[in-house]
Amino acid sequence: MNEKESKSPSNFIRSIIEEDLRTGRWEGRVHTRFPPEPNGFLHIGHAKSICLNFGIAADYNGLCNLRFDDTNPLKEEQTYIDAIMEDVRWLGFDWGDRLYYASDYFEQLYEYALKLIRDGKAYVDDLSAEQIRQYRGTLKEPGRESPYRNRSVEENLDLFERMRAGEFEEGSKVLRARIDMAAPNLNLRDPVMYRVLYATHPRTGDRWCIYPTYDFTHGQSDSIEGITHSLCTLEFEDHRPLYDWFLDNLEIYHPRQIEFARLNLTRTVMSKRKLLRLVEEGHVSGWDDPRMPTLSGLRRRGYTPESIRNFCERIGISKKDSTVDIAFLEHCVREDLNRRAPRVMAVLRPLRVVLENYPEDRVEELEAVNNPEDEAMGTRKVPFSKVLYIERDDFMEEPPKKFYRLAPGREVRLRYAYYVKCNDVIKDENTGQVVELRCTYDPETRGGWAPDGRKVKATLHWVSARHALSAEVRLYDHLFASDHPEEAADGTDFGSVLNPDSLETLTDCKLEPSLESAKPGDRLQFERLGYFCVDPLDSRPGRLVFNRTVTLRDTWAKIRKAGKK
Ligand code: ATP
Ligand code: MG
Repeated sequence: MNEKESKSPSNFIRSIIEEDLRTGRWEGRVHTRFPPEPNGFLHIGHAKSICLNFGIAADYNGLCNLRFDDTNPLKEEQTYIDAIMEDVRWLGFDWGDRLYYASDYFEQLYEYALKLIRDGKAYVDDLSAEQIRQYRGTLKEPGRESPYRNRSVEENLDLFERMRAGEFEEGSKVLRARIDMAAPNLNLRDPVMYRVLYATHPRTGDRWCIYPTYDFTHGQSDSIEGITHSLCTLEFEDHRPLYDWFLDNLEIYHPRQIEFARLNLTRTVMSKRKLLRLVEEGHVSGWDDPRMPTLSGLRRRGYTPESIRNFCERIGISKKDSTVDIAFLEHCVREDLNRRAPRVMAVLRPLRVVLENYPEDRVEELEAVNNPEDEAMGTRKVPFSKVLYIERDDFMEEPPKKFYRLAPGREVRLRYAYYVKCNDVIKDENTGQVVELRCTYDPETRGGWAPDGRKVKATLHWVSARHALSAEVRLYDHLFASDHPEEAADGTDFGSVLNPDSLETLTDCKLEPSLESAKPGDRLQFERLGYFCVDPLDSRPGRLVFNRTVTLRDTWAKIRKAGKK
């Protein structure tokens, strides 16, 4: 990470850490962790947590672990573990040799459970999951104690060991903490610590048939790793008293938990459960579909890691839930690509233009600027010849008032080239569709300027027909039509909130020949159209496929302006 990025703006978590460093609470240590559950791909919300945890470690001379919270073998897979590691690295972070798995602590957690049983603080319960729910009570009513709550320590030890040995059926027994069935905080009403589950775990295989719950794992894992500041999202605020109870009663090292608001984005669902549904129901092509808010989807869409880190920094960290406009995320990538993406000319919906007065075999190599924002990026040559393609949208036979582009009898500038004038329109006899424009060029206007000072109102991009490369271009838009799809998507059907136009595939696009050397993942600006990247999966020599990252229209700038008024 470069110097400029290295210190992030302050926030309440950084203030707490600085205070802890001042008072020497952790002997000057700062040790954080990013703890994903490998039950799906990482999304942009996780990026916020990754940037926070790794960013803090970097800024305070600390360490940050990557830890997989892999306590639910029913939902977890090695593919997810691999994808998560790839995504964290891609974002630009490094956990060094500190890669951990909660499953590495299963034996230790089992010992912890035995200690609580011996101390009379945990018991084996025979109630069913449904009964446990019923006995739990509500926010207004206290819960009821299980009839098995007062089993002797010996009986509990025996039963728990036999649970581990595989003597009991799934769902027939659980281990619960013996806390308080009348506690106002429902998490403290004798929460389940272990359940029987005959499932193969991606890492421990069939070694275990009892698995600790997330609540009995998370805090102790942080403790085992010597984490100083356990940063987690707000929904864990209510779990903190329980984590405290476990750590205090186990009498082990006790990290400090601090909660912050999770990231929500408009037009986006973020929970992995819903993202998995989008994949399984075939609304997208996979976790890495460029419309997905996953890091792999954003990467394939053309987002840079820098733009995502910058976004995470600028949205800040707070204690209050809010929803960020997705236009701001798009603004961040546009800003980044504006600085570094080379400009090229590409025609997405080609219309043939023949320059009647241009010599048949002549080819001119015209000089084009690679990036007006960065002179160092230099120039390139673009071939110009008698037959060209322009964008279908840039011509209208009967233009309305505010249409300044090409029309019969009208003159426009072709970028880096000449003024051209449309004299004639050729149509398909059967369909009436315009298939070709007959134009003349003015040889005096080479470079795009008229010596007599006459002005034109539009500058169009173009591609020389005989030099053009063909490509497929995928125009992506928001996956959801609704600004707040989360609630609607809670129902059984995404159908009502999905944007039916989130993907348009154009198969007959024409590109300037310099793109011959474009490599998978390359990011470019197609002049006047937007930012695009070479699809890393489907593009190969002889078949160019581009994904649109964003258009050039910065809706965020508009929203921000409106807000200031
Ligand atoms: P989801 O609800 O999307 O399934 P999760 O919280 O179950 O997410 P985990 O794999 O447990 O996913 O998350 C790993 C870390 O990332 C946790 O510390 C969690 O708090 C954090 N995290 C998850 N979603 C967000 C978000 N939207 N904004 C900020 N942090 C998040
Ligand atoms: Mg979770």
